[in-house]
Amino acid sequence: MLQTIAERLRQQYRTVPYPSAHPVLSERFMGRPHINAHTCTANAGCTACMEVCPTQALALQEGTLGLDMGRCTFCGKCAKACPQSALTFTKEYRLASSTRQGLWVFPSPEPADAPVPSQVQPFDHPMLPSLRRSCRLREVSAAGCNACEADCNVLGTIVFDLPRFGIDYVASPRHADGLLITGPLPRNMQLATQKCYTAVTPPKLVMAVGACAISGGLFSGLEAEGEGAPAHLTVNLFIPGCPPHPYTILDGMLRFLGKQVP
Ligand code: SF4
Repeated sequence: MLQTIAERLRQQYRTVPYPSAHPVLSERFMGRPHINAHTCTANAGCTACMEVCPTQALALQEGTLGLDMGRCTFCGKCAKACPQSALTFTKEYRLASSTRQGLWVFPSPEPADAPVPSQVQPFDHPMLPSLRRSCRLREVSAAGCNACEADCNVLGTIVFDLPRFGIDYVASPRHADGLLITGPLPRNMQLATQKCYTAVTPPKLVMAVGACAISGGLFSGLEAEGEGAPAHLTVNLFIPGCPPHPYTILDGMLRFLGKQVP
């Protein structure tokens, strides 16, 4: 017993100060993409970034280049390929969105470090006050590579301590307020996911975590694979990344529940 107390004193308090302070991110972290509207020449015919993208995340929309974070693996190939260095990746980790369209990034005349408004709206439902105190999620790992699953799981460690926000994972969908889906949802997982969704109690939240769960990611278009969470599940929160940083997931969840975040 004394040893346990001594060890506890030695280790001290390990939980990060977030959300009362900004998170400390690795030098290598690649966050929200920024397309410089002054230097991007995609509208004049340049296709360098689109040619190297492994997930077709870059496309012209009405003559303007757009980057779909819901498909992006944040590999950085497009930034290296751009002859004008118009495409860069910032340290912005707050990437989640309440809508699929909110994941698109378009050329901006603002500098890369200019603040970008969050695309997450607090859940518009009478149960929000209850969910803010207690939100239980059933994770459905639908054939992901385990990277998104690992970053969801790490939120439960003492470093992030997800339960201090009233959010926790549960083993049974019958005890859950919603699903947290990772992986591209291949054919073989679609029935299981549907049954799981049916068993969840209202309001049946759905959070799609990672490029695979949002769009199929690298697996999109393959015969046995899915295109992420099916449209009839009504995704409430899209959290992009490959995998998303734990702070990206946490920021999205907290904003969705209407909690204070930096
Ligand atoms: S960083 Fe994203 S948009 Fe750029 S090449 Fe990689 S997957 Fe495509």
